Amino acid sequence: MLPSVVLLNPPGTRPWLRDGYCSLEGRWSTRFFPMDLLVQSALLRGRARVTVVEAIGARLDAEAALEAVVAARPALVLALVGSVSIHEDAAFLARVKAALPGCRILVSGDVTQFENNGLESVPAADGALLDFAAAGILDEHCPAVHRRGHPRPVVPRPARFAYGVPDYAAFPVHSYTLPYAPGPVGSPLSTYGCSFSCRFCNTGAVPWKVREPGDLAEELRWLDRQGVRHHYIRDATFGADREHREQVLRVLRDLPGRPRWNTFTRIDLFDRADLRSMAAAGCAVLQVGLELPDEQVLKSLHKPLQLGRIRERIAEARAAGIEVCGHFLLGVPGAAHVPLAAVVDYAVALGCTFASFNVAAPRPGAPFRGDSGFLPPAEAATQQARAMRRFYTHPRVAARQLRRLRRPAVAAHALRLASSLLRPGS
Ligand code: SF4
Repeated sequence: MLPSVVLLNPPGTRPWLRDGYCSLEGRWSTRFFPMDLLVQSALLRGRARVTVVEAIGARLDAEAALEAVVAARPALVLALVGSVSIHEDAAFLARVKAALPGCRILVSGDVTQFENNGLESVPAADGALLDFAAAGILDEHCPAVHRRGHPRPVVPRPARFAYGVPDYAAFPVHSYTLPYAPGPVGSPLSTYGCSFSCRFCNTGAVPWKVREPGDLAEELRWLDRQGVRHHYIRDATFGADREHREQVLRVLRDLPGRPRWNTFTRIDLFDRADLRSMAAAGCAVLQVGLELPDEQVLKSLHKPLQLGRIRERIAEARAAGIEVCGHFLLGVPGAAHVPLAAVVDYAVALGCTFASFNVAAPRPGAPFRGDSGFLPPAEAATQQARAMRRFYTHPRVAARQLRRLRRPAVAAHALRLASSLLRPGS
């Protein structure tokens, strides 16, 4: 009989997002597939009886989540953990261990990925998975697992990876939604990690690799047959390898359902022809890190964007029919001369339809972690809420949003999201 494995997103007092080695507080209205678990649901297909306990997505409290884990009688639990929620994650996993003393517990998250002694924060864990796209977690000697009491392994870094078709139906799909599109959404990866090294971000410490285009095609064709017509391609820097990007765009163009998609990337990777070709392959929204309007500060952050070229690229993207969601940084240490209002007004002037304002924080693995001058959490939350309000109530942004609302389904979806965005902490 196949072993029982539980893929666990632990319960939370807040809607924590803690996949892909990121951890932050999300909003209930925009929860999404936890990638580490989704990818492992594909890799474990045919090798284990998999039960997904997605307590954040399914809004399970600790009792219900524990009951679901115990009922599966697992030999192995793979659990997400995050630096923002580490105390409650560790406490919940201690309860799992007490209820199932013979069960092996592996964790995946920023704390154990980027901190050498990260396992100390989760005493119930037997090890940490250091590459969530690696196969073989059932093997006690899996080279991608850091086993407690053993030296941290040198994880193999193949240039390409494949994982097959995830078990989408095992996840609470109806609770996942995106700001950009109503209805069911696919969640494929085309690349993993990032080859850049911006000082404020830890993804540059996750080695870059690309997915076999045939493997991606298999997942997208499966989603197409299920009638899924929008995909959130969960890359950190989509298309950074030009040749691989061309292959991925060909796969997307050839899908019979002609889906639309959004993804994270860097706008400075593309020229006008690239943007047109991405639009022709269904690109609806690019989520791009634009940070703040000061070239000197950008250079000091090791992200030397040129403001004039960024403006041009965004105009070209919009002309091609691609909307832009800009991601901006507030509270950068040493950048007090760039006030919140200047960052928000820059987002408006660039032509962003959507924006996200993140507050600089000393996240595990981010090179600027040792800097000083970060905002205290309460001030960070206030600034973030102020920035969101200033952006989304700006008449030019409101006009852009209104143009999207011609379809009733999109209008209803946007209304639901707007009300949650204007309620901090909802
Ligand atoms: S900010 Fe973007 S480009 Fe820079 S390291 Fe992070 S993921 Fe890579």
